[in-house]
Amino acid sequence: MQNDYDVIIIGTGAGGGTLLHQLAPSGKRILVIERGAFLPRERENWDPNAVFRDGRYQAKERWYDKFDAPFTPYTHYWVGGNTKVYGAALLRMREFDFGEVRHHGGLSPAWPISYDDFEPYYTKAEHLYSVHGRRGSDPYEPPASAPYRHEPIPHEPRIQELFDDLTALGHRPFPIPIGVRLNESRVPHAPYKLSNFDGFPDLTEVKADSHVVAVQPALGHPNVTIMTECLVVQLVTSATGREVVGVEVDQNGARETYRAGIVVVACGAINSAALLLRSVDGRHPDGLANSSGLVGRNYMCHNNGLFIAVFDRPNPSQFQKTFGMTDFYRAADDSPLPLGTIQLMGKLDLDSLKSLAVEALPNTPVEEISARSVDFFLTAEDLPSPENRVTLRPDGSIKLTYTATNVEAYERLRAKLASVLDEADLRRGGRGGTYLHTKLGISGVSHQNGTLRFGRDPQTSVLDVNCKAHDLDNLYVVDGSFFPSSSAVNPSLTIMANALRVCDHLLTRLR
Ligand SMILES: Cc1cc2nc3c(=O)[nH]c(=O)nc-3n(C[C@H](O)[C@H](O)[C@H](O)COP(=O)(O)OP(=O)(O)OC[C@H]3O[C@@H](n4cnc5c(N)ncnc54)[C@H](O)[C@@H]3O)c2cc1C
Repeated sequence: MQNDYDVIIIGTGAGGGTLLHQLAPSGKRILVIERGAFLPRERENWDPNAVFRDGRYQAKERWYDKFDAPFTPYTHYWVGGNTKVYGAALLRMREFDFGEVRHHGGLSPAWPISYDDFEPYYTKAEHLYSVHGRRGSDPYEPPASAPYRHEPIPHEPRIQELFDDLTALGHRPFPIPIGVRLNESRVPHAPYKLSNFDGFPDLTEVKADSHVVAVQPALGHPNVTIMTECLVVQLVTSATGREVVGVEVDQNGARETYRAGIVVVACGAINSAALLLRSVDGRHPDGLANSSGLVGRNYMCHNNGLFIAVFDRPNPSQFQKTFGMTDFYRAADDSPLPLGTIQLMGKLDLDSLKSLAVEALPNTPVEEISARSVDFFLTAEDLPSPENRVTLRPDGSIKLTYTATNVEAYERLRAKLASVLDEADLRRGGRGGTYLHTKLGISGVSHQNGTLRFGRDPQTSVLDVNCKAHDLDNLYVVDGSFFPSSSAVNPSLTIMANALRVCDHLLTRLR
């Protein structure tokens, strides 16, 4: 049978988009299939009401939790996937994250390959996504073979003040490595605005998302074809069951099948697992690539939370997301075990802030709270558990069975941040802060990973070290599904680096 394409890539987020960018110059016939459209550049991109209250860019889907209660997942289906709205904090996993690590909640397993295997690809990904940062400033940053190409974004005065106070107290805050195309925008010196960042699409295309950085340039290659607003519903296998021979697509209710020598799934950790579970046939009664029974299991999403510090001092910063702290990443003075990562984040919208402030600051107008608040994002590692998993309900909808792990690390991290911020504020003559907080619940799937873990043993992993399914000869996965453990840094740079690593393997195979 003649294949229509050499490679089909399904999904254009951090993984799929980056792979496409690297593969496109090969001249191989590539078909990209994406369920989302190109995200419109429109005024609403920066309108907090449209973005958060109305969920204008969020997927209009219902998933179900372990009690079969419906929820709307905080996920986004567009060319560029979730990177269209991400915060572009692009950190490397720490070197020791690749080994086994003991946590408050249990063991974080080792990866089958080492940090050294990833390092060249981290560097490549940082350059591709225009990461602005300062080497050597993050105390747990692993060794790197090249400097960042761009200086960090400067702190605004209030943030610089806090940075200086924390440093004076002996902490080691550092500039967050962040992917922004301040030097590469197509119109040099065009006005840009970073104030509405986390959760917002970027009208100016300064944010380095996978659509702007990776997909757009790849589409300039004549060998690349994209189909948008096309949902891949099933993968079809050969009579032996060893190859994917058809990718079945639903386009506005019409079904078509496409063929390629190699099929790469990059739908995001939850949707990729769902796609494989949906792809049932006589040879694969429990879903594709599932001889281990692990497809969909070991779902992780980090213990993530929003932590809003309200001081007496005003914070008029437009873009405050400029430093992070990893001092408690591996341990703390009162914890021999790891806690996690602290980062500033974009300003929380007023509606969300209001709901957080109801109890602690009931009589203060929300605008006033916002004028004095500094917003942080906390991340503690979430450990893999086979019981935390993606399954399909009888009607085909997604069920996410999840109980948070390692919550003690998260709670300790939160207490630590409150105490260091109190110290910093007292040092400046303040009274300490009022701290508003919420931990993300089941709908907070933005850091999803782990559902198709990679490894050397087909009985304990779904993918091999090249991210090829153990059970099939031509099926690869390059999104966040492959993580055997989640570390406590944001996932995207590792997903991008891995896509570049897998691409090198594919280029050799396709030669
Ligand atoms: C508000 C927000 C802020 C974030 N901030 C950061 C940050 O600062 N740093 C960081 O590292 N990470 C951040 N993240 C997380 C980051 O966006 C994800 O980790 C990353 O995008 C995951 O990449 P992926 O390739 O696994 O999946 P995605 O980026 O989700 O891409 C999957 C793609 O597959 C498509 N798709 C899904 N199913 C199908 C199907 N059946 N057929 C066809 N197409 C399909 C989707 O439409 C999507 O385009 C953030 C996420 C959010 C939501």
